[in-house]
Amino acid sequence: MMAQYLALKAEAEDCLLFYRMGDFFELFFDDARAASACLDIALTARGEHLGEPIPMCGVPAHSAEGYLARLIKAGHRVAIAEQTESPAEAKKRAGSKALVGRAIVRVVTAGTLTEEALLDARAANWLVAVASAGQGADRRLGIAAADISTGRFEIAALPPSGLDAELARLDAAEIIIPEGFEEDPAGAVRWPRDHFDSVRGEERLKRLLGVATLDGFGAFTRAELAAAGALIAYLERAGQGSLPFLQPPRRRVVADHMMIDAATRESLEITLAQSGMRKGSLLDSIDRTVTGAGARLLGADLSAPLTDIAAIEGRLDLVALFGGDAALRDRLRGALRALPDIGRALGRLVAKRGSPRDLGQLRDGLDQARALHLMLERAEPMPALLGDLLPRLVGHEALVDLLRRALVATPPIDAAQGGYIAEGYDPALDGLRGQGGEGRKAIAALEARYRAETGIASLKIRHNGVLGYHIEVQAKHADPLMAADSGFTHRQTLAGVVRFNAPDLHEQAMMVGQSGAHALAAEAAHLEELIGAALSRTAEIAATADALARLDVAAGLAERAAEGGWTRPHFEAANNCFDVKGGRHPVVEAAVAASGQRFVANDCSLGEQERLWLVTGPNMGGKSTFLRQNAAIAILAQAGSPVPATSARLGIVDRLFSRVGASDNLARGRSTFMVEMVETAAILAQATERSFVILDEVGRGTSTYDGLAIAWAVVEAVHDMNRCRCLFATHYHELTRLAERLDALSLHHVRAREWKGELVLLHELADGPADRSYGIAVAKLAGLPPPVLGRAKEVLKKLEAGRAATGGLAAGLDDLPLFAAAAQLEEAPPDPLRSAVEGIDVDALSPRDALDLLYKLKAIA
Ligand code: ADP
Repeated sequence: MMAQYLALKAEAEDCLLFYRMGDFFELFFDDARAASACLDIALTARGEHLGEPIPMCGVPAHSAEGYLARLIKAGHRVAIAEQTESPAEAKKRAGSKALVGRAIVRVVTAGTLTEEALLDARAANWLVAVASAGQGADRRLGIAAADISTGRFEIAALPPSGLDAELARLDAAEIIIPEGFEEDPAGAVRWPRDHFDSVRGEERLKRLLGVATLDGFGAFTRAELAAAGALIAYLERAGQGSLPFLQPPRRRVVADHMMIDAATRESLEITLAQSGMRKGSLLDSIDRTVTGAGARLLGADLSAPLTDIAAIEGRLDLVALFGGDAALRDRLRGALRALPDIGRALGRLVAKRGSPRDLGQLRDGLDQARALHLMLERAEPMPALLGDLLPRLVGHEALVDLLRRALVATPPIDAAQGGYIAEGYDPALDGLRGQGGEGRKAIAALEARYRAETGIASLKIRHNGVLGYHIEVQAKHADPLMAADSGFTHRQTLAGVVRFNAPDLHEQAMMVGQSGAHALAAEAAHLEELIGAALSRTAEIAATADALARLDVAAGLAERAAEGGWTRPHFEAANNCFDVKGGRHPVVEAAVAASGQRFVANDCSLGEQERLWLVTGPNMGGKSTFLRQNAAIAILAQAGSPVPATSARLGIVDRLFSRVGASDNLARGRSTFMVEMVETAAILAQATERSFVILDEVGRGTSTYDGLAIAWAVVEAVHDMNRCRCLFATHYHELTRLAERLDALSLHHVRAREWKGELVLLHELADGPADRSYGIAVAKLAGLPPPVLGRAKEVLKKLEAGRAATGGLAAGLDDLPLFAAAAQLEEAPPDPLRSAVEGIDVDALSPRDALDLLYKLKAIA
């Protein structure tokens, strides 16, 4: 057995091996140690290997899913070795000492799950492969991503600088990269390079899609083909040769979406809150979807806001339809709520892990899709997007009818016990079931007869897995039945009871058993056919699932907008404006409301003339909230959602950046100032005139002078070089002097007032700089003891007197040359050697002059 085990283990060295032994999966050696620690189950030992006891642990096969889920979550991969024959078959094949054959039937990893129990119904589960082609500046990446639980499949080409944002968007469950890959995304698994080969990738992709040429899908780059090939190979390995369902790939053009890098996603808490949970995120606060597929699509939309105005308006029109007709919206949402997750049911069926229940879900889901078609087909006016979706909801009538006739109302997950094919679907099956029923009745009658014949009133006919049907009497009544001529055959003696067989019982039991086995076989054959019928419509069913999800998202957004009094954003094509009136932050607003207060709405107006707002004011005054709410509005609007504002006039944002000064981010546990600077550098390198940047207290992670200097330079650079829309919050009052020099910068502050010695934060934005910083008032609010506050006031008075005398922190900054001029100076310092060389007319030199000149140049250098 150990030899068999070790051979299997060698096939799956990077996995924990689940080795099937009867009703258990057993793990051995280091696998057992790792699993027992992770699952908190007992580590035992079994036999010896090379003189050492073999560590072992095991989990019951019937509850293996839960254990698998925990192992996968903890970052393990699991290979499942099943018995490929029964012990009886093994004996027949190779004699009584034969070892049952086993093979790895599946490799389970975080990115290759399909089991409902292991997946989060509201989140996509992406497996991502990344590859590259080309060298140096020509190096390009390809990303292939598959969510095999729904069959979504995307391929994209991008420059290396876009990788971070793309991976952040996908939030992959598992990432594979080639060994020796230049980038090293967190948590990525390295896989041998030869899997990432573009020629073989093209072959694999063609085979998967069943096409001779990929032309119909767009021109894939070599890096894309390499990534897709590796992805498919990885899936093939996971399924041990059988591939899960993948829709034809959608080729994502990265420029079709707002670029949002990982740091920005994190700081804006788009799909996950800082705690790492969905709760508290922007997504959570707007999600009113009622289906898992809808929630997944909303998450995808919010992760990748669009940049094409027509596409955004298409989504907004659909939301408007449901926004304008609350009754229709309610009916739609009511119907969707009852809808099973057909996308994932289909995924399991294609992956050959489907159950009768999955077919039942398809039947019910597809049937309800048709009902939704009836509900929506008369919408007036008909939004173009709805016109596209409607045809995808119908066309499944024949399949639904077949499944309705063939299946019972609620088919079981486990096919092994049968009972899922409906009565009346197959007369032969009904006949077999009838025979079984007759037989069981006859057996019940036999019990009464045997009691009468033997005079033992407590005699019972029982059934178990080992003996089948048998007669059971208490030990004290057993003797007469043991007699050779009693007509009973002894089978088993246990403490207290003795078990027998009898010819009539045997005959009936055989009949029941045979008809049962035949009925099971007949059901299994029907199941195959039905699955085949469903799979022949895989693409159409997937399209229906997608259409339903899109309806759920639109109706959910309409619901959210109605709840919060949100408004439809208006886009301006050739204009980088950002004009929001009465904007709010949905997450903070909910938190403020929960504590019984009112959220103060604020306007934000950026445009060509006023690109950069410098926002000052006391801590806790609402600066961050203001910045983040405007970023959130940009995201929501381009995702096709109404926005929390009274009006919004927006120009498309191509890239969104958000950075928060280091000390707000201590939880991230890195060298925070360094991180802050690296991230700020990325913005300066990538933001375009169409980008939107929020910078919150950048520069605060270091000493006052450094911090002010850096903040100063960053504001100048954003203003002069990037020329993007930008909100910059700072407590460096000195920065307000920049307003005099930078014409597109304007000053704003969050209002506060001291009233009877108490600080009142109004959370209201006003024009101009803050009059003072209120730091000591905030400290008081926070409960610093009075003596400390008193002392701080004294120190402050001294400092302020000093500032007045010397001109303060920013003394002399007004004399600095403007940023652009300074940058130029830096770039091209005059080089005396170069000037000297440039002045030489070589042809006019005598050898003697040349020698003199060399001496001269040497002196300059
Ligand atoms: P700052 O960045 O100026 O330190 P924050 O934006 O973090 O301030 O806001 C601090 C707190 O003030 C928030 O947690 C919230 O409770 C409250 N707050 C912020 N903005 C508003 C607003 N517009 N209306 C009501 N309360 C607000």
